[in-house]
Amino acid sequence: MLGKLTRWLRMLGQDVTYSTQFEDEELIVTARKERRVLLTRDLELYQRAFAKGVDAFYVDGRTEPEKLAELAERFNFPLAIDLKRSRCPKCNTKIRSTPKEKLADKVEKNTFIYYDEFWKCPKCGSIYWQGAHWTDIRATLEEAEKKLKENL
Ligand SMILES: [Zn+2]
Repeated sequence: MLGKLTRWLRMLGQDVTYSTQFEDEELIVTARKERRVLLTRDLELYQRAFAKGVDAFYVDGRTEPEKLAELAERFNFPLAIDLKRSRCPKCNTKIRSTPKEKLADKVEKNTFIYYDEFWKCPKCGSIYWQGAHWTDIRATLEEAEKKLKENL
């Protein structure tokens, strides 16, 4: 239910695991064992986790900026992406700055020509750069920041 939010949080440098396979009980046990905060949009699951003393957060927002603002307020992290701290949106591993030369045959020619800074996930091999989509990413984060200030 929160796959998109998971990817945002990882880009923002938060350590987030995500599963659509786990049963509620498994989620609660895992959150407790790994000392994680359980994020959910399922009120019943939230209440069960809370009753068992697991740190849980009920995600109420409708849009991504609303959700991000709620979480930034509750967990006090900046709504700005610092790629030095970012985790791979796909697998949660910290991404690393990678010399452009090493990626000549791994990204499209135009991308290689236009961009100079690249990051790579050491686990799944995904390659990232601040491409055209970055404008949308910034707009979403600015919107989230605005919501955060309205909430405070
Ligand atoms: Zn990865």
